[in-house]
Amino acid sequence: MKVVQRFGPGHRILVTGGAGFVPSHLVDALLARGCTVVAVDNFVTGAKENVAHLAETSTFTLVEADISDGLPEHHPALAERFDAILHMASPASPTDFEKLPVEILRVGSVATLHLLDRAVADGARFLLASTSEAYGDPLEHPQRETYWGNVNPIGIRSVYDESKRFAEAATMAYHRSRGADVAIVRIFNTYGPRMRPDDGRAIPTFIAQSLRGEPITVHGTGDQTRSICYVDDLVRGILLLLDSTETGPVNCGTEHEMSMRQLAESIVSLCESSSEVTYVSRAADDPKMRRPDLTRARELLDFEPEVTPREGLHRTIAYFRERLG
Ligand code: NAD
Ligand code: UDP
Repeated sequence: MKVVQRFGPGHRILVTGGAGFVPSHLVDALLARGCTVVAVDNFVTGAKENVAHLAETSTFTLVEADISDGLPEHHPALAERFDAILHMASPASPTDFEKLPVEILRVGSVATLHLLDRAVADGARFLLASTSEAYGDPLEHPQRETYWGNVNPIGIRSVYDESKRFAEAATMAYHRSRGADVAIVRIFNTYGPRMRPDDGRAIPTFIAQSLRGEPITVHGTGDQTRSICYVDDLVRGILLLLDSTETGPVNCGTEHEMSMRQLAESIVSLCESSSEVTYVSRAADDPKMRRPDLTRARELLDFEPEVTPREGLHRTIAYFRERLG
């Protein structure tokens, strides 16, 4: 179904985690539409430099705060009503699951409840950035939104998986019992400029290793698969969901499924690197395969990813080349 733009000039939008990789691209897209945007971030995994180009933009405000402690009450940018709240904040790399377990649990749980309360008070549309990790190590392939998932509730990844699953439950509870206008997007592996080279996720790691001529660290045999999505496609999908009246959950990503061995080899080749692909140990509970079923996104939102892996990786490599000098 064709979605009509609902948020634009005159609308005030709150983006949590706004200095992060995906959220900062969303901030750019919302500002380009003429929205007024307030980003709240504690920079635990994000960086001011991701929004540094907006320093002179009068319709943009960056507030430093940990949203798990609630929104700072007396900050003038947060005092006025919001038309939409995009809850994007959360560390998202598997290496963070070990480093920041409690922070991840809190931002998915306590912060989500605070923001849902605020959305109800403001009559704002609330959009939750959920994840394909909600499906855990999936036994259904590709993953449809109707699949309940296969999550180890006490494993290393559980802090992330379960806090996002809690956030989804909270979002639906506020929708059903308090009339909140909500949307849940389940984001699949997304990459692009503004990822951190040391973030630990496969794409930035393989690119940084290729550009430095270091060995590429493929985990396990490298047969595990992911379906990779360039950030511009994801942002378009999220805004379609925001503009719609759909609740979701809706998968967002691409069907470009590939093994991590294939991914490593194509990155080495695109970087024209001499790096050798090596095989190291693989973390527990690492999902064996992942690919979204996009039927719902196509039918409800008319969403279609456009950027090929070759083009997206090319753009991302150019960013890293510049950044790493
Ligand atoms: P990111 O780490 O670059 O962005 C997250 C941002 O949230 C960072 O700027 C971080 O500092 C901020 N943040 C975290 N906890 C906070 C807190 N308590 N208070 C204030 N700010 C806080 O990660 P990303 O990849 O851009 O992910 C953005 C969102 O999308 C996350 O919610 C993530 O779970 C979701 N997601 C991303 C992917 C992906 O492939 N990139 C896949 C699935 C879901
Ligand atoms: N991976 C890898 N080498 C790395 C980092 C990750 O082989 O240096 C693998 C990881 O084990 C997983 C896949 O790449 O199977 C995707 O990992 P990523 O952290 O990018 O995303 P997620 O696991 O959240 O899908």
